Amino acid sequence: MPQHELTGHAAAPGIAAGVLVELAESRAAARQAGSPAEERAALEAAIAAALTDLAALAATADGDGAGMLEFQTAMLEDEALREPALEAIAAGAPADIAWAESLAAQTAEYEAAEDDYFRARASDLHDLAGRVARHLRGETEAALPPGCVVLADDLTPSRFLATNWAGGGIALRAGSKASHVAMLARARGVPMVVGLAGAKADGHTAAALDGGAGVLWLSPDPATLTRLNGVRASAAQAAADAAGLLYLPARTATGRRIATHINVADPAELDGLDPGMCDGIGLTRTELLFPASGGLPDEDRQYAVYRRIVEWAQGRPVTIRTLDAGGDKPIAGLTVDGESNPFLGLRGVRLSLSRLEIFSVQLRALARAAVHGALKIMVPMITVPAELEATRALLVQAVADLTAAGIPAVAPPLGMMVEVPAAALAPEQFDAAFYSIGSNDLTQYVTASARDIGSVASLADARNPGVLRLIAEVAAYGKRAGREVSLCGDAAGDPALTGALLTCGLESLSMAPNALPLVKAAIARHR
Ligand code: PEP
Ligand code: MG
Repeated sequence: MPQHELTGHAAAPGIAAGVLVELAESRAAARQAGSPAEERAALEAAIAAALTDLAALAATADGDGAGMLEFQTAMLEDEALREPALEAIAAGAPADIAWAESLAAQTAEYEAAEDDYFRARASDLHDLAGRVARHLRGETEAALPPGCVVLADDLTPSRFLATNWAGGGIALRAGSKASHVAMLARARGVPMVVGLAGAKADGHTAAALDGGAGVLWLSPDPATLTRLNGVRASAAQAAADAAGLLYLPARTATGRRIATHINVADPAELDGLDPGMCDGIGLTRTELLFPASGGLPDEDRQYAVYRRIVEWAQGRPVTIRTLDAGGDKPIAGLTVDGESNPFLGLRGVRLSLSRLEIFSVQLRALARAAVHGALKIMVPMITVPAELEATRALLVQAVADLTAAGIPAVAPPLGMMVEVPAAALAPEQFDAAFYSIGSNDLTQYVTASARDIGSVASLADARNPGVLRLIAEVAAYGKRAGREVSLCGDAAGDPALTGALLTCGLESLSMAPNALPLVKAAIARHR
């Protein structure tokens, strides 16, 4: 087939070329319904397929993950679960609607249960209901072949994390550079283009993409592939040139020392990394540490994870952010469904303070892990001082309770994200031990351009003078007040922005680990 070129927005740099895999549209709700017998067979087949998925997942899971999969398998095998849906099908309902309605009713019963155990299982029901529904709609979450280029509407962070992208690339019709899945793609070096509205495989079976230029080619011709190989080679050369700086402390051309920290989304990422390349961890996104479907982990499990991260850092500071669920990071059973604008809704610390039973567990686990190293707690989405003070009171209480029970714990420094304009405009209101600017959210709120809407991606630009002025003012406040101001949004990992951020007066940046060499090189060029 002749080459077809489509332009979207750059989301994660790099070149991918390979077999094209188009994922079924996630909103393909309009299924063709058949006779009751056909609908019954469709539901039974979807349940069987979901059970096969669960068996495959269980083969590699351990701990809580394995327990959750066993529970879901037992539920799905239980005839009683499907009975109401089968009755509705016999009465003429299409399988997908019958299934969705009967599972929603059963999930609501679990949610209303007196017993904590049953309430906690509601998210498992929600998860398995979604899995069967996807099979009914013909959507599949089967493993993608390595080295392929995936074309889809959008991807959730959990789907991204569950996929082996080795050599592959991602082309999304929706999505945006500032979404969490784009951030994960950059962290893992998976090339990604977003905003390819209307892109369709339409018989094309091969594709290439340039994640840095934001272009997708269907059936790329040999000249395109040769040119892309050249782009890949020169990027590799620039990376090799910068690699020599990786283990050196970052300094500008005039000798100003810039602290360079890393952002962590999944503790497993740390296994292959040497802490000597950074000054510490500037952001740990705890909402992505655990699969959403498994529910939040208990205190001991969180403690083990936080302790492992702190120990990896070998004495370097480790900033762990409390749960920032909501917005484009929904967690089933925790975040509010159906908010008209989730980015302006109950997310981050707002949600944590409304679910104290979850927040306190996290603070207890953090206070316990703080015994093992230089842990710092950072609170997301702080808008008013009362939120930081409420968090401090819970932390003090958690430490007191742990100490009274003879469990070692300390209260770590408590800092805040500066990502809500109201906080950036008046940072002096907050008694924070440190500040970290979340340029992703700050940019979307200052430019009124949602980070997950591709059509406004070019407006959601941290280079906007309004955004840079706020960053500079927060940095200047930190210098006056003698409090550390860092920046941990994606702008910190973009070498094209390094000069602008240093000109704002920042002396601490936190970024995806694989951005370190090129950002250190950009710092070294800055005067
Ligand atoms: C940010 O908003 O810049 C940030 C670092 O937080 P997140 O991207 O997780 O919302
Ligand atoms: Mg944020």
